[in-house]
Amino acid sequence: MVEEGDTVLGEKITMTIQPQSSFVVMDQHTGHVVAIIGGRGEKEGNRTLNRATDTVRQPGSTFKVLSTYLPALDTGKFTLASTIDDSGPYYYPGTKTEVNNWTRTKKYEGLTTLRRAIYNSMNIVTVKTLNEVTPQLSYDNYLLKLGFTSLVDSRVEDDGRVFTDIKLPMALGGLTDGVSNLELTAAYAAIANNGVYTKPIFYTKVLDHDGKVLLDNTPKTEQVMKKSTAFLLTSAMEDVIKKGTGGSYKLTTINMPIAGKTGSTSDYNDLWFSGYSPYYTATIWSGFDNNRPQTERSYQKKIWRTVMERIHSELNLETKSFPIPDSIVTAKVCSKSGKLAVEGLCDHYLGGNTVYTEYFAKGTEPTEKCDIHVKATICTESNALATEYCPISKQKEAVYLNKSETGNTADTPYLLPSKTCPIHKAGSSSIFDDDPLYKDDPLYEDEPYDNNNDPNSEDNSYPPDDSQNQLNDFYSNSDHW
Ligand SMILES: [Zn+2]
Ligand SMILES: [Zn+2]
Repeated sequence: MVEEGDTVLGEKITMTIQPQSSFVVMDQHTGHVVAIIGGRGEKEGNRTLNRATDTVRQPGSTFKVLSTYLPALDTGKFTLASTIDDSGPYYYPGTKTEVNNWTRTKKYEGLTTLRRAIYNSMNIVTVKTLNEVTPQLSYDNYLLKLGFTSLVDSRVEDDGRVFTDIKLPMALGGLTDGVSNLELTAAYAAIANNGVYTKPIFYTKVLDHDGKVLLDNTPKTEQVMKKSTAFLLTSAMEDVIKKGTGGSYKLTTINMPIAGKTGSTSDYNDLWFSGYSPYYTATIWSGFDNNRPQTERSYQKKIWRTVMERIHSELNLETKSFPIPDSIVTAKVCSKSGKLAVEGLCDHYLGGNTVYTEYFAKGTEPTEKCDIHVKATICTESNALATEYCPISKQKEAVYLNKSETGNTADTPYLLPSKTCPIHKAGSSSIFDDDPLYKDDPLYEDEPYDNNNDPNSEDNSYPPDDSQNQLNDFYSNSDHW
């Protein structure tokens, strides 16, 4: 304590540069932590803050894969082709808290496969999926086994408030305290290691001077998901790099496949990427120690890429793809129904061809044919279902979506019209004007054609607008999440 009359002989002030960053590299096959960086710059002291191991932060969307899509696929409840309706406004069930997609355009994509929801990091689909899986199952059967120690089961604060992570916001990485970079890396490494979790290890053994083993640190391992699940997640996360939110993480100086997931939190307080090659798993976190918003949002991409490129090129690791286990099969499916594609329907859909080939865990591939695409003839004058009274020249056959819409989505323009043409009716066409037999036919008097003019009914407008194309353009140009 400095008192009056004392002389200050020296003073040292240490400033911590901001924003900060942490980085962990693990060999997913051995569990060895081969590199760990707890902060920026030279290490200037011992037992200083290591942000990779000692700091927990909100993991954002990097958590979606672990909390939601892993249990969704591993339980067999969903496949990568399963579709969930991206529609809104959508609120966490039983609350007034709206779940927003990160694009914040209030545009909804409609029926979306889980694969697409992963690579475009879609929030509403993720929360709806976890709602089916249930947070409790995710927490008990997967998150704890993936080695997370900072998740909150239940904690009562001094003011009586109770906190728990076992609720739907965990789908999007909304946690009470957060996770450390090291534990997030180890969880991703389990996916990279065919579903086998290995507790990260920093040394293998300690010997005495006679070579006798004092400490043997053989890692603990556990198969926490099926091999097939690990592969399916890897495949979807390869798309994060190839066509989703993580395009900037593609290695450019070397040819090596990468799978991974981006994440960021409100106002970009945290920027994350956790990803892996067939050899190494690495996670970068960056942000301010005091949790402030960031305006620069791309530096972490360059760091992650540069580190991974140097590791692989200096070790001369040969290019190889992620191995496909025997328990994986493929099937041609429809991306709107998640069921087997039907030639002539799914590939002729008004909204564009929806046929694609998907990977499935053997036994989970769909056996039913797409039942959401239907062929119908409409009258181009009324954009309603054509009737026998519509002139042939006005009739047009097309494939529509037979879906009940809960809100306006990109699917809406392509919905099967629910009404028949109100313009061309019995007696309105010149063909029938001269036909007294027809006019007098009592069978036709009760036809409810007038219902088609109900002003309160929904308008299924046609032709479709180009919102789907705008959406696709938006996603293909975006790489900032
Ligand atoms: Zn279809
Ligand atoms: Zn008509």
